[in-house]
Amino acid sequence: FDKPTIYVMDKFHPKVEEYLKEHSNPIFPGDPKHGQWHQKAQYILVRSAHLTVDDVESCPRLLAVGKQGVGTDKIDAAACKKRGIRIFNTPGVNARAVAELVLTLTMATARGVGRIVSRQSEGVLVPKETCKGLILHKRKLGLIGMGNIGKMAAQIFRGAFEATVIAYDPYLPADAWSDLPHERAGIIEDVLRTADVISVHVPLTESTRNLISYEQMKMMKPDAIIINTARGGIVNEADLEVAVREGLIWGAGLDCHEQEPPSKEKYGGLWDLGVVSTPHIGAATDQTQMETGMAAAQKLLAFATG
Ligand code: NAD
Repeated sequence: FDKPTIYVMDKFHPKVEEYLKEHSNPIFPGDPKHGQWHQKAQYILVRSAHLTVDDVESCPRLLAVGKQGVGTDKIDAAACKKRGIRIFNTPGVNARAVAELVLTLTMATARGVGRIVSRQSEGVLVPKETCKGLILHKRKLGLIGMGNIGKMAAQIFRGAFEATVIAYDPYLPADAWSDLPHERAGIIEDVLRTADVISVHVPLTESTRNLISYEQMKMMKPDAIIINTARGGIVNEADLEVAVREGLIWGAGLDCHEQEPPSKEKYGGLWDLGVVSTPHIGAATDQTQMETGMAAAQKLLAFATG
């Protein structure tokens, strides 16, 4: 039988491209035939490209979308659902990479590494007397969202710091908690008030936008660290700047920003305050790119070949 034709919307890991060539008829960006994807595509594979409602509506033959990674907020899921177009993402595959970055950002924030390294590279000598750090041993990790990444972060923090864990996730079924050695928070405030490190792992939706704003920051301990590796906008960035400046919390580490990649014009204020910021690199390891790309390609091909 004919191999399915896959319109590939981004650059993928070389091993994924090899796999696609072997098992399908891939049309990569740059191929002259790629320009016809709206009219022709039945199957498309995306990594970070957007698929808007206009795209979906101008694709009469589209049946399924393979998406490398978990977050599908760049794909208009409602438009796909209306047309019965399936979306195959790859939950869990990048959890370890993102959770390791949670640890990295937490440690860098606790010891002021972002501020120190950037000042030194500007040629400023940083006397150690001006560097004040925090110990993380036996601190409490507070998780908002206890899916694949939240669970992995809990495991890593327990191993690294003998941390205790409190988590808030009202959508996780009650029986799922019995396997987890963590305190289950009935309300989000229990996490905000008691945790030393507060890390968000929820999708960005209308109800999670600005989930952590000034009001929530006011409830936190003065030594609290906020980590956002989920999506920009879940932690209110303007409020964060005020909270760090006022000393309401210790600091923050952000991999996800409302504006990406983060520019100095927009984020210089937070950076001056020592907020550690990375340009959405949670899944940016070679191994993770290969594994998540492969998982998306395999799921899409399994569907396409029935
Ligand atoms: P997941 O779907 O496994 O877990 C999300 C959890 O959030 C679920 O258990 C859900 O019940 C819970 N949840 C939803 N709304 C909530 C709310 N209002 N309050 C509390 N809990 C809520 O997803 P995951 O794999 O753990 O990923 C989490 C997020 O991380 C993704 O949605 C994505 O946006 C982000 N992400 C970022 C990167 C990166 O490169 N930085 C990479 C992968 C994923």
